[in-house]
Amino acid sequence: MSKIKSINPWTSKLLGEFDLLTQEQIDTKTDAAAKAFATWKDLPISDRAVLMKKAGKILRKNQEQYARLITAEMGKVIRESRAEVEKCAWACEYYADQTEGFLAPEEITLEDNKKANLFHQPLGVILAVMPWNFPFWQVFRFAAPTLMAGNTGILKHASNVPQCALAIESVFREAGFPEGVFQTFLIDSKATLALLDKEEVKAVSLTGSEKAGAAVAAAAGKNIKKSLLELGGSDPFIVLADADIEKAAEIAVKGRMVNFGQSCIAAKRFIIEESVFDAFLELFIEKLSQLKSGDPMDESSDYACMARPDLAAELFSQVKKSVEMGAKIILGSEQAKEGSAEFDPIILTDIAENSPAFTEELFGPVATLFKVKNEEEAIKLANVTEFGLGASLWTEDPKKGELLAAQIDSGAVFINAMVASQPGLPFGGIKKSGFGRELGRQGILEFVNTKTVYLG
Ligand code: NAP
Repeated sequence: MSKIKSINPWTSKLLGEFDLLTQEQIDTKTDAAAKAFATWKDLPISDRAVLMKKAGKILRKNQEQYARLITAEMGKVIRESRAEVEKCAWACEYYADQTEGFLAPEEITLEDNKKANLFHQPLGVILAVMPWNFPFWQVFRFAAPTLMAGNTGILKHASNVPQCALAIESVFREAGFPEGVFQTFLIDSKATLALLDKEEVKAVSLTGSEKAGAAVAAAAGKNIKKSLLELGGSDPFIVLADADIEKAAEIAVKGRMVNFGQSCIAAKRFIIEESVFDAFLELFIEKLSQLKSGDPMDESSDYACMARPDLAAELFSQVKKSVEMGAKIILGSEQAKEGSAEFDPIILTDIAENSPAFTEELFGPVATLFKVKNEEEAIKLANVTEFGLGASLWTEDPKKGELLAAQIDSGAVFINAMVASQPGLPFGGIKKSGFGRELGRQGILEFVNTKTVYLG
């Protein structure tokens, strides 16, 4: 691959082609990131905050332009693209306001009354390897805390969103961030891994698939460098017999269909107590059927297409295999749309235990429904997956909700709500969903050296 192509998945039109960086350009830009760090790290947090607030303002000012770019490159409906840009501005403002407090030195008094101070110092150049599904948000949730902490950043974005990647770089440039503090590198996977061999690059944050995560974490590990992995999920959405079924079904559809199902924290496995299963299924079908498909630029479209035809084909093949192994299609089509990124939402029941719909992440608009006898069975099924990102639990008894939440193997549990990220809430997974946390105070502490200074 010598060029990166930007292709509109809805129209299949080629929007642009971009040259990959040469090795010489990679070396020069990496050098610039390291040089920028030397001064950026010593800038008072309040000065960095002024620039980060400006980045937030630029996002708001150019919201429509960026939203249209997101929609054009990966097919998200325009209303969701606008909300994504707005959320990025929120993250910039949040870390501009909170970093001073998050990174304030901490005093420790020991048993013998001796004292020590903890200082949180930036590490240097941090590499971000990012996916296409929220092409702005994934980057800003990395960049806002990482840059505010005094690090500099290099972005290797997914190959299908090069224009978003360049637009993000321009946000920081326009906001007045010094040269080299945040740069987009248009490079392939091989060059990405090679960056981790460079002395200047100190750590890496990756959001993406298990395969990419394992490759990047191995390259970091080989060089004794830190990695943070935000990988896939197969989040359970558990509805207990005492839940508000109407509300649960409404949010279940929203949770499955956000970003046309292409979200790591989308609700993927619906685990329903048997006494309310039929009522829930009926409502779920009714609400899903009300959604309108169409051109992603159209204000009234609820969904459009997947981000690439190969992703639609892969999802369909997971469904097909699962149906061959016994799963029933309750809603949707059994026909693939060859060569197209379009996909009709599907509901599956009667899913066999070793089928793809049971064991793998379904990264698109396919909902799997499971009937369970009781709460115990629900929790067992929720935990059977090798992923552990988020979970949603529905019950009218908050005490029971908290007790059951403690038994779910995941990075987050949302009770009577859809799993969603926001700047103030730490976000991340366990098991094959990865390690480390983004957002909140935990997020900014991932890429700092917490230095202990002991006073003798
Ligand atoms: P992907 O194929 O793993 O790509 C993610 C990024 O990694 C891209 O920039 C990709 O570059 C790069 N990459 C892929 N293989 C690599 C390798 N061997 N070495 C270095 N870099 C490599 O994932 P995706 O299809 O874009 O995103 C979907 C996945 O991301 C899903 O599994 C989803 O659940 C997960 N995800 C997780 C979170 C979370 O917060 N936990 C959030 C969103 C998405 P190229 O595009 O050039 O291949």
